[in-house]
Amino acid sequence: MLMINIQQFKTLQKKTSASFHQQKKLIKNIMLGKDVYCQQCNGILQVKFNKEATLAHVCCVQRCTDIKLELG
Ligand SMILES: [Zn+2]
Repeated sequence: MLMINIQQFKTLQKKTSASFHQQKKLIKNIMLGKDVYCQQCNGILQVKFNKEATLAHVCCVQRCTDIKLELG
């Protein structure tokens, strides 16, 4: 079983939450028709949704950006 230090976990949660909001903003911008670019390759980012629209998948062509975000 994987044990995780509680302090590490808190840091992780904080990071996740900050990037979660950032990612939501990013998806919103893409959906608004704005051009959003990958920070690594400067390729344009695209967003796809699963059938139920509960999961958004943001990626660039080269896949250095590959974000999956639950919208539920
Ligand atoms: Zn990229």
